[in-house]
Amino acid sequence: EPEIALAGRSNVGKSSLINKFINRKNLARTGNTPGKTRMLNFYHINDAFYFVDLPGYGYAKVSKDVHSQWGKMMEDYFSTRENLRAVIQIVDIRHKPSLEDQEMHGFLRIRGIPVLVVATKADKIARGQWAKYLKVIAEALELPDWHFILPYSAETGTGVEELHQAVEEILAEDPSEED
Ligand code: GDP
Repeated sequence: EPEIALAGRSNVGKSSLINKFINRKNLARTGNTPGKTRMLNFYHINDAFYFVDLPGYGYAKVSKDVHSQWGKMMEDYFSTRENLRAVIQIVDIRHKPSLEDQEMHGFLRIRGIPVLVVATKADKIARGQWAKYLKVIAEALELPDWHFILPYSAETGTGVEELHQAVEEILAEDPSEED
């Protein structure tokens, strides 16, 4: 079954995003994680696909060891997931993406993995200010257009419909058409 991975630093609001996304839909979290990819959480959504919750990155204060373990795990994950269709990269709308966010974004692009950037906690910013913040994010991630970024709020439900649609489109695309 297809997989869509979710990436973002710890505490960015990933679990809240997932919970809001699957509101009143049948969620099943698999007991054990397939393969050797430990520390990954799999959420089976609507019997159609898996959300793969990647462990949060951006360990400012952890040892080099833990950091390289994380990198190794990411490498393992991305080099073995044949059913991976896209990555939803979650950032906080209020903050310029961190170096880790930028690295992750570059890493995915180099590998040709489709990335959808979601700017969550949009409720923390007045709607009229969104564009200003989204432009900062677009610039840091070298996106050609800030309209590609999806504002989201797990608090108010902003962007949930749009994310449902984006996921549907990702799943509808035939991966065999890509190289
Ligand atoms: P995770 O570590 O990335 O899974 O982050 P969580 O989903 O646990 O969220 C971290 C904190 O941010 C929690 O206190 C959430 O209540 C809060 N949070 C998450 N999403 C939103 C949001 O869209 N709006 C607001 N205002 N708070 C949020």
